Amino acid sequence: MNIIPLGVWGAYPPANGATSAFLLEEDGFRCLVDCGSGVLSSLQSHIDLHDLDALVITHYHPDHIADVGVLQHGVMIETLLEKRDRPLQVYAHAKDEDNFSRLQDGKYMKATAVSPEQTEKIGPWHVDFCETDHPVYCLALKFTDKHNTSVVFTADTAWTPNLLPFIEGSEMLISEASTYHHMIEQIPGHLSGRQAGQLAKETGVNRLLLTHLPNYGNPTDLVSEAEGVFSGEVTLADPAQSYFTLFSNGPKKGNF
Ligand SMILES: [Zn+2]
Repeated sequence: MNIIPLGVWGAYPPANGATSAFLLEEDGFRCLVDCGSGVLSSLQSHIDLHDLDALVITHYHPDHIADVGVLQHGVMIETLLEKRDRPLQVYAHAKDEDNFSRLQDGKYMKATAVSPEQTEKIGPWHVDFCETDHPVYCLALKFTDKHNTSVVFTADTAWTPNLLPFIEGSEMLISEASTYHHMIEQIPGHLSGRQAGQLAKETGVNRLLLTHLPNYGNPTDLVSEAEGVFSGEVTLADPAQSYFTLFSNGPKKGNF
């Protein structure tokens, strides 16, 4: 499984940046995880739009869905030009009926409602869901490949013990780290770098990737915070520099 950060900023993007999104690739199947502001541009640095097979949405905050409308336009245009021969498969929760219904245009996007009660087969993976602690209903995601190797995305969440059993047994944790630990009371509904490290430590993952980063301060401090409690490797997600390949014997890091 290739894991490519496309947008790593929380809340809003800086100049030439993008908010939440990762591209996952395996066996020729390509799936976006969230589609924040600036993501459609970032995505096309890696693949042609018509090669995108699926989109999984964790929740309906703008920094996770801002580019869904333009993605829909892109899929429509490419379908009309006969560059694309299938609808985009979209997976999201239906607790917010208005937002969920916007994903279902009947022609270019096909939406499937997901929930913690059931595992979804998406391309080559089995995907599980877990409710997080966030001001709006939000689902953490666990992608498990054919080698039974898993990666978990926390999505947006405050510290919650609900996530511990969900993450346990995974190779890699991709955690939000929205703020610095001394500011955690000011930014409710999110994790600090230190709390992301604590999640990694308590669940025994091998590797921690920090994302959903703050637009203030120095995000490398988040790495120091996480390393203060977690002895595995900690990395800041960076669209310009790195991708990760998750093998059954552990993830490897590569550079573009
Ligand atoms: Zn959010």
